Amino acid sequence: MIPAADRAARYRAMNCELNRLETIFMKERLVSMPPLVQLSTGTCCNLRCVFCTERGAGTEGFYRDLTLEEFMPLAEGLDLVSTVQLWGWGEPFFNPHYEAIFAYVTERYPGIEINLSTNGTLFDETWQRRLLDYGNTSVNVSVNAASRSIYELVSGRDLFDRVADNLRSFGRLRGEFREKTRSRFTVSCVVIDDNVHEMADFVDFAADVGADHVQFMDLMHLNVRCPAISAAGRGETVRERFAEARQRATTRQIGIGSFLPYAANDYLAMERYGSGIAIAGPDAPVPLQPCYEPWRSVMIGTDGTATLCCRTGAVTGNVRQSGLEAVWNSDVYRAFREVVNSPSPPEACRSCPVKLGMSC
Ligand code: SF4
Ligand code: SF4
Repeated sequence: MIPAADRAARYRAMNCELNRLETIFMKERLVSMPPLVQLSTGTCCNLRCVFCTERGAGTEGFYRDLTLEEFMPLAEGLDLVSTVQLWGWGEPFFNPHYEAIFAYVTERYPGIEINLSTNGTLFDETWQRRLLDYGNTSVNVSVNAASRSIYELVSGRDLFDRVADNLRSFGRLRGEFREKTRSRFTVSCVVIDDNVHEMADFVDFAADVGADHVQFMDLMHLNVRCPAISAAGRGETVRERFAEARQRATTRQIGIGSFLPYAANDYLAMERYGSGIAIAGPDAPVPLQPCYEPWRSVMIGTDGTATLCCRTGAVTGNVRQSGLEAVWNSDVYRAFREVVNSPSPPEACRSCPVKLGMSC
């Protein structure tokens, strides 16, 4: 008798292989299911980061956390999915129902990789052990500062020491669990004017807490304050600091990457193309790179609305109403599969870092 987790792993591997072939042949209608599904578990948060969506007075009813009962219909049909991102634009551990949701997904789909992104403030030893005990997780902790003062400035709370303690503890525990668990541990930093001078120190911070990888992100303009806090006007400084951070990552033997949604502000773009806005297109000097997102992933919001990726925002259906399989082969998905890698991709794709070959 093959254990359920091993049997599920085989089916997932077969689905991945089929998906790979369907991607190579650019099929529009897929037999394979998406290898990656993001399921939002709620949007509430205990921080107030300067670059986040507006969370001040008057926005109270806008953010909500799902109960297990509300979440369950979203998690139908994941049997062949390899990775589920169990979070979405809020702090997952702040949701009082997250424990029940986590237990539900890991019991229903044994062995599925759980990916989550947290701000680390509530990532205590109980949660650290729970994730490592489960055995197949990837965790990103969004810290955005390498010092207490900058952390408070960016996040609105004086919790840097608590986050650092939690991450050091997680780094230590991973050592204990190394033989019996698969886990990836990343820390990330959204670069803005106030923290750009800390980039190399942030690499040291990540290495000190035992992370595998440090990820720098460019600022997405999500609220009216963003233009004022952006580091876009200091291109030369950003370039120098990023080069320093890369050097430090080599010294500390830690992975480093940047994922940069807006070419105008982006370090790799500036390195390659100068500080102007790089827009890909048939007549543009920037070569178009292939994008495989329409063959790989689905993002599902708390109300069941499915979108193709965070940069297009293209709504592809609603899984509460029609289920994952129907959404996955909806007209919108098929239309994107048809044109995304053509010489004239959709407008939103033409300035996307994936098409511009800038994400790493
Ligand atoms: S931790 Fe994330 S969700 Fe929370 S305020 Fe900061 S950016 Fe927003
Ligand atoms: S190119 Fe970018 S915006 Fe277009 S589908 Fe791919 S990831 Fe989304």
